[in-house]
Amino acid sequence: MKRATLHLISGPMFAGKTDQLIRKHQNLLDINIDKETIKVFKPSKDTRDINIKSRVGLELTCQPIENSRQILDLIENNTKYVFIDEFQFLDEELRIVVEELLAKEINVIVAGLDKLFNRKEFERYSELKEISNFKTFATAVCHGCGKTAFYSKRESNSESEIVIEGEATYTAACLDCHKE
Ligand SMILES: [Zn+2]
Repeated sequence: MKRATLHLISGPMFAGKTDQLIRKHQNLLDINIDKETIKVFKPSKDTRDINIKSRVGLELTCQPIENSRQILDLIENNTKYVFIDEFQFLDEELRIVVEELLAKEINVIVAGLDKLFNRKEFERYSELKEISNFKTFATAVCHGCGKTAFYSKRESNSESEIVIEGEATYTAACLDCHKE
């Protein structure tokens, strides 16, 4: 029996996590996996767009979900792959839901932030890390100095070149620049 696996793609903002998620989806289509066996979800809290869009222009159609449990209602008998973007926004039942999917021999691929702006781990990341079979850690480039960046930083009054979500502005930062 082939066991299903959980692949966890994580890292700071601007690290191309969504690109990797979309590419993995495309890889399945490239080997002629039936599209009907793949489900793609995104928490509806993430209001940037109805579809999953990466910063380099890749796009993937998805179903918005209000909570983790909803995934179990939306999968079908033929579902073999579940993709979840921005998993850090989901509730504390996510781990149980993922374990149920794996038990049903459904492969799970998730992407999202590993750390909050204070460099502490998101709870969802810590929980999924423990049960993941594969981890991909994506890095960004530090907006302050150009070195490899592991952290997301919330700027108080920064210039306009950076993405604005809600009221705050965010950058990717190395440890030195994050501490500034
Ligand atoms: Zn830096």
